Amino acid sequence: LIPAPPLGLAPGLWTTRSPLYATHSGVFVSDVEAGLVDPGIFPAELRALRRFLDERGLEPQWILLTHAHWDHLLGPERFPGVPVVAHSAYRAETAEPLRTRIQHDVEAWEARFRILREGSFEPPEPDREVEDGDRLALGDRTLDLIHVPGHAADQVAVHDPAAGILWAADTLSDLEIPFVSHGLEAYVRTLDRLAELDIRVLVPGHGSPTSDPGEIQRRIEEDQAYLVELAGRVDEALRLGLGLEETVALCGSMRFRRPEENTEPHCWNVETLYAQRGGDADPLAVGWNR
Ligand SMILES: [Zn+2]
Repeated sequence: LIPAPPLGLAPGLWTTRSPLYATHSGVFVSDVEAGLVDPGIFPAELRALRRFLDERGLEPQWILLTHAHWDHLLGPERFPGVPVVAHSAYRAETAEPLRTRIQHDVEAWEARFRILREGSFEPPEPDREVEDGDRLALGDRTLDLIHVPGHAADQVAVHDPAAGILWAADTLSDLEIPFVSHGLEAYVRTLDRLAELDIRVLVPGHGSPTSDPGEIQRRIEEDQAYLVELAGRVDEALRLGLGLEETVALCGSMRFRRPEENTEPHCWNVETLYAQRGGDADPLAVGWNR
């Protein structure tokens, strides 16, 4: 793996993109201070990120973990001593039984790519827990944190109001549909809030950054429309008393981006919502929890 050099995406923001899930790591910069967002994923990528900081004389001040999914958690162990920031719900999201699941996912990835580790992976402990509306200071910049649940209960986005930058965590991707692994109502509220922001540069956790106003608007509206239709169809299935498989079939004709990759996550969205809204299925055994 040859890590791509960080890309200067906007004044004071560098990003790298991992080949794994097109995942972004972020470096917000002010003077010699750097704030890292979800640094990852492969060891070589994290070494390259460290080199990038050293070469520019940048001192990491904090690492923000946008949410407790395994592919966002691999940075802090490579930056010992740098305070880790996460939402107050992060602790519950990294406690059992989710902790075992995170460890299992990291182990599977390490086995697949022959990455060696001594002992088992431990999700990072947050040094600072934040809430919606809290801010991160970086030199003369102030970054706003926005709680954006729906994909994950603890998910936070970063908004730089001065530059119009939104680090969207796992929302507003051009590759993925909304992965509704936490809750649909929360996801709808999250998109409504993001739609109100001044966004001139959008960086999704996975996918392509964009500064095209039309593209930003389109992603928001497409994801909103997807959630409305998903909820409508699942509710109709419940009214008709359909079973899980029939409900998945009823939602099978929905249109969404990149069906070749998103058909499976779409089915998981349907199953999860069906179970959450009282359908005849065990919420802990279907969809995103299967
Ligand atoms: Zn995620």
